[in-house]
Amino acid sequence: MKVVVTAGPTREYLDPVRFLSNPSTGKMGFAVAAAAAAAGHETVLISGPVSLKTPPGVRRIDVVSAREMLRQTLLQVGKPAAAGNRVVVIGAAAVADLRPRTCSPVKIKKSAMGEVLRLVRNPDILKTLGRKRLGWLRLVGFAAETGDAIGEASRKCREKKLSFVVGNDVTKKGAGFAVDTNEAVFVFPDGSYRRLPLMSKRALARLIVKEAEKIA
Ligand code: C5P
Repeated sequence: MKVVVTAGPTREYLDPVRFLSNPSTGKMGFAVAAAAAAAGHETVLISGPVSLKTPPGVRRIDVVSAREMLRQTLLQVGKPAAAGNRVVVIGAAAVADLRPRTCSPVKIKKSAMGEVLRLVRNPDILKTLGRKRLGWLRLVGFAAETGDAIGEASRKCREKKLSFVVGNDVTKKGAGFAVDTNEAVFVFPDGSYRRLPLMSKRALARLIVKEAEKIA
């Protein structure tokens, strides 16, 4: 199978020196790409701005904004040459939900800045792919929640037409942003789930790739 992983944050600029973003470091997505390549799958990693090294055997495409990430992802999900082959997109990126309505080509002067920033919604990459109903495409999402991780993840699974979601409660110690471990749960569209113990993101990445192999 071909594995396409989105990773890291996106940046949404309002002028050349200011942007909206989030604290994603890309660790989980890079670990998934590393595990997929190590398992022998053709692997493409579409990454927002992060300071991580490209894992061996992975083709990396760097992007900045959510719209660029969507465009590059769409370019990677064409029909595989061999019949029966699948493309699995694993959406580990923390895509900014909103972007400034306009981006000034020059730095906005402090004195010219109002106190209200107008925002518009970014496209949802996985949802956009799900709507295409491509027979060879399988989608895997992440759900970083601050409460009912399973309920939210199964809702997300159905809403975005995902094969499964890797849910985690980011308020838990050792889970979520900027740590090397994660405590996750695989949640399926029918509401069933499999809880996993606290483990390294590397180990979790291997389990995600194994689960993706089952749905491919
Ligand atoms: O809805 P929520 O943002 O919590 O969903 C998270 C999942 O959706 C992640 O897999 C993330 O990569 C993906 N996502 C996306 N495009 C967005 C927002 C989230 O692909 N604009």
